[in-house]
Amino acid sequence: MSVNKEKYQEIIKYLDGKAKLIAVSKTKPADDIQVLYNLDHRDFGENYVQELIEKYSLLPRDIHWHFIGHLQSNKVKYIAPFVYLIHGVDSLSLLKEINKQALKNNRIIDCLLQIHIAKEETKFGLNSDELEVILTDDLTELNNIRICGLMGMASFSNNLDLVKLEFQYLKNLFKKYTPLSTAQCQMQILCMGMSADYKIALEEGSNTIRIGSLLFGERQYT
Ligand SMILES: *Cc1c(COP(=O)(O)O)cnc(C)c1O
Repeated sequence: MSVNKEKYQEIIKYLDGKAKLIAVSKTKPADDIQVLYNLDHRDFGENYVQELIEKYSLLPRDIHWHFIGHLQSNKVKYIAPFVYLIHGVDSLSLLKEINKQALKNNRIIDCLLQIHIAKEETKFGLNSDELEVILTDDLTELNNIRICGLMGMASFSNNLDLVKLEFQYLKNLFKKYTPLSTAQCQMQILCMGMSADYKIALEEGSNTIRIGSLLFGERQYT
């Protein structure tokens, strides 16, 4: 299936400049990314380090590459030179490794902390206590990272009330920590909402959504 340009235009119009769209291109060819690039889209999300590196090497340099998957500490070094924003950070040890690799590359890497908001066991993320610990205790030495906000994934469910409650929970955490402003932490990005639930997420205050299948078609994993 080819890229759905009409859907892209429709979503951009729907967002009306009030929220940002990250086009999630995992498993899709570089040519598909180029199609949206040619419509002036610059923000793309990838989940796998190897795949991201390959696409980075093939595509224009002014793309903002968002790493939205679960990042293993030993792979941070491969994306540290160019990654625009790392979304799924869910431990202090990962933050420290990102800081170390950012320092080596003489840059500051922006990160989002991932919060566990879904009922499902499989989704990664911090709970509110772990978030509190990271934000209030541990950041002072980490001069090469900046926590820019929070991200979360709602339950994969037809129960829209549940999805809504999960987004509200994340929004409330975001609001709670927004006043906290230090060199290492400025809460600006509330990243929630995917193809199935982005409208609910926007109603609940999301300012950044991550959309894959609506734009690029269903993914096939081999
Ligand atoms: C794959 C993925 C998406 C996109 O999902 P769609 O349902 O295809 O829009 C968004 N966020 C994350 C973290 C993902 O892994």
